[in-house]
Amino acid sequence: MKVHIDRDNCTSCGTCWDTCPAFFEMKKEDGFSQVIEQFRLNGDIARGTPPDDLEACAQEAADLCPVQIISVDD
Ligand code: SF4
Repeated sequence: MKVHIDRDNCTSCGTCWDTCPAFFEMKKEDGFSQVIEQFRLNGDIARGTPPDDLEACAQEAADLCPVQIISVDD
């Protein structure tokens, strides 16, 4: 599973890091969502691959994002 956050359109609502704090967090410098460092793809803060035990919550966060900017590819 690959996750992408369209950070340019993040509203910093906090739903994703509240829903799946082991995978998403707020980037302190700009207040927008980013992938936690250990799960990033090629160091990209906007892309990551959740381990099996975090796939469900990453998907839930994507489903709950009020502006639907978290995309998930199987
Ligand atoms: S749920 Fe969506 S809008 Fe809210 S902080 Fe996360 S990525 Fe940004």
